[in-house]
Amino acid sequence: MQNEFQNIPENFSAIFIRSDKEYQNIIFLSPSVQKYFGYSSEEIISSPKLLFKKIEVAHFSEVKEFFRRLKKGLPSIVDFTVIKNENEKFFLRFRAVPYYEEDKLKYFDGIMFEVYEELQQKALLEESEKQLKVLFETAEDLIFILDSSGNFVLVNANGALALEYLTDEMKGKHILSFIDESTKSSFIKAFQKLLASSSVQTFETRFLSKYGKSIIFELNARTIFDDYKKIIGVIAIGRNITSRNSLEDKVKDLSHKLVEARRIISVERDRAKQRISVLEELNRLKNEFVSNISHELRTPLASIIGFSETIDSDTSMPEEMKKEFNKIILEEAKRLANLINDVLDISRIEGGKIVLNKTEFDINEILRNCVEKIRPNAKAKRITLSVDIPPEVVLVLADEERITQLFENLLANAVKFNVEEGRVTVLAQNLFKEYEVIISDTGVGIPAQDLPFIFQKFYRVSRPGTEIPGTGLGLALVKQIVDHHKGLITLQSEENKGTTLIIKLPLLNYQG
Ligand code: ADP
Repeated sequence: MQNEFQNIPENFSAIFIRSDKEYQNIIFLSPSVQKYFGYSSEEIISSPKLLFKKIEVAHFSEVKEFFRRLKKGLPSIVDFTVIKNENEKFFLRFRAVPYYEEDKLKYFDGIMFEVYEELQQKALLEESEKQLKVLFETAEDLIFILDSSGNFVLVNANGALALEYLTDEMKGKHILSFIDESTKSSFIKAFQKLLASSSVQTFETRFLSKYGKSIIFELNARTIFDDYKKIIGVIAIGRNITSRNSLEDKVKDLSHKLVEARRIISVERDRAKQRISVLEELNRLKNEFVSNISHELRTPLASIIGFSETIDSDTSMPEEMKKEFNKIILEEAKRLANLINDVLDISRIEGGKIVLNKTEFDINEILRNCVEKIRPNAKAKRITLSVDIPPEVVLVLADEERITQLFENLLANAVKFNVEEGRVTVLAQNLFKEYEVIISDTGVGIPAQDLPFIFQKFYRVSRPGTEIPGTGLGLALVKQIVDHHKGLITLQSEENKGTTLIIKLPLLNYQG
């Protein structure tokens, strides 16, 4: 066997060695020892201490322990550095086993081989572990390991500091005791999901610092398994996103405000549109008024001019006819004057320039006179006038001319907007505190959508096809007169059925 070893080439990368059981003498040493130790096998066999001369001092204690175990008859292993010379160093692993014959220790067989790569990797691993540790300790993030029950096993100093704790204060404590009450239930749910999966889970959690600060972390966590796939813990890294969240909150808040601003803009736009449409409506009413008033002025003027010309050109016209024509001219001129007065009145009243010329008079009598004045018009349409005005004298203190105007306007409308063979009812009664007049007709009525505007000046119900001429001033004037007398006017109407107007005026002794 010795001969066989002898044949191992010098540059073989392992050294075989056999020594006696005392380790005093080397029985055999392969020539490859020269490559690592710089001595020939013969030199070492004659002086085994040479081997120790080349082992790095730092490894002496491990080497001693190695021989101690061997001498006890146990297989042994040691790693050490051999310094062959200034430029050459080797990392060797020495494995040796005792050899027994009939239960008696005979010798030791050993092998030394280079473990350079392995050691280097170990050194690298140690280095990266060191770096990892630095990273672990200096990282701004919260890095921690929990055991299988959820207690902190490890937590980095900065992470603990972010929660205003020292590492040791957290170690051994359950993670749940560091979670803000508001997110506990969602945290438990996320944690259960994490335990059920082997992949990294990301979730947000609100931690509570030692002094009650609420800090939001985005956690990236994963379970740790042992060789038997049993969960032994959880490793996690958390990023403090409190400021990010507060920014997000601000963005959310701003976007709410933006929505609100947009809504205000759209409301304002609608209002502007409405204002424009009111202006357009006013403009339309004004145009309509101008065309109506022209028509209203032209009609009486046409008859005035027509009849005057006839009288003028026909010298042989009988006196009777002339009188008749003059009467018509006079009536038309009065109508014209009334119309012009209406227009002037309304602007005067509206401008606050109206001064009531109040006198004491019997309002029943005025009403009766107005009914009589309208009778010919009613007759022309075969309208029945049903009048119930008590014969008593009811005194009011009011502007007689205006009250006359008021009744005339309402009665004129009741006839004008009535149907052929319709009915107009006039009721008057003394209610002791006030005087009430009800003027009702069976006419065309006013559509519900027009009712709110009916007392506005120039407002006219448009009835395409059956347009009844007018200026839209009558009711506005009526309302102004009632208001100035501290009275009350109400209007009820149903389309195609008729209209009822109720006017209440204070009596003489009850005027404010
Ligand atoms: P005008 O009669 O000159 O048009 P008014 O101010 O008197 O103006 O009336 C306004 C509008 O109200 C009229 O265009 C008419 O359509 C409606 N109206 C007034 N009185 C009656 C009524 N008794 N029945 C039906 N419609 C009426």
